[in-house]
Amino acid sequence: SNSIISNSISKVRLIVRVRSFLPKEISEKNRKARSCISVLDQEFKSSDEVGVFLKDPDTSRNECYRLDGFFGQEDDNVSKIFYKEVNPLIPGVFSGCNATVFAYGATGSGKTYTMQGTDEHPGLMPLAASTILCMCQSTGSMAEISYYEVYLERCYDLLEVETKEIAILTDKDGQIHLRELSRVPVSSMSEFNEVFYCGIQRRKVAHTGLNDASSRSHGVLVITVSTPFGDGSGAVVIGKLNLIDLAGNEDNRRTCNEGIRLQESAKINKSLFALSNVIYALNNNKPRVPYRESNLTRILQDSLGGTSRALMVICLNPGEYQESVHTVSLASRSRHI
Ligand code: ADP
Ligand code: MG
Repeated sequence: SNSIISNSISKVRLIVRVRSFLPKEISEKNRKARSCISVLDQEFKSSDEVGVFLKDPDTSRNECYRLDGFFGQEDDNVSKIFYKEVNPLIPGVFSGCNATVFAYGATGSGKTYTMQGTDEHPGLMPLAASTILCMCQSTGSMAEISYYEVYLERCYDLLEVETKEIAILTDKDGQIHLRELSRVPVSSMSEFNEVFYCGIQRRKVAHTGLNDASSRSHGVLVITVSTPFGDGSGAVVIGKLNLIDLAGNEDNRRTCNEGIRLQESAKINKSLFALSNVIYALNNNKPRVPYRESNLTRILQDSLGGTSRALMVICLNPGEYQESVHTVSLASRSRHI
């Protein structure tokens, strides 16, 4: 239904990930849950694009959007996404090119499962760490991790014993710095897991009193890699991989938010809108990229655009038509036109 010229290459790839139905969703409806999302790959076979088709099983209303990739409900699509979409970003990090992976979608659509995962099904964060640590051994590189949260436009370190607010500073060259953000060296997966799970626990208990604060904040894991030039000078080239579990992009008209919730939503929507504007400008070669519209985009300025590469994983709940249309239509706006 929307006319997008094909054959151009997105600089920020936008791909869809549909989670599987949960056991309770299948039994609740007392029938086999019906998915409202499918892919039209036939039509787009010659190009890099896929057509994502959303159809409401009750009303038969439908929409179609062109995006860069589609990962359907089959088991463990997270590891497929890793090997096809994230793994190719990693060699660049060892030569100083930054990269960013986002999980975008409504609460309950599978963002945290995609990024963090579980013990049996590790998410993109531990999968990336494992690949990077393996490459560090052969290149003599060093990896360090930082983990922070952006909540109501403020930044909090999750690797300090006491969750601490971090100042966002701009230096005279216009570079952004997160003052005193922890950077913990890790050289094995057991070291990574120990630090990572501490951060996850802190993310859960931060902002006590606010119910489910973790779905209302952006969680950012940064893996910084320092690689020696190999000329014996001791000089290193530094690259970063940012892995981001974005706050839920709830539609306020549907969730009837009030008070603190509405204020939170306004800030969340502001930063998600700013992010989509930045991606739109990058994908469409706009001369000016509006990084300064939110703290999230200011912080990510050195990892979006330039030589950096980025991937947005659009997470969808297959049982939610209206919510999925809301998510995909917002995300697809930032694709090339
Ligand atoms: P979000 O972070 O977007 O709010 P979650 O990642 O918490 O969503 O996912 C919602 C629920 O769906 C969780 O119970 C999660 O374990 C489950 N889930 C998501 N994706 C899958 C999957 N591929 N297989 C099994 N369960 C999944
Ligand atoms: Mg979550």
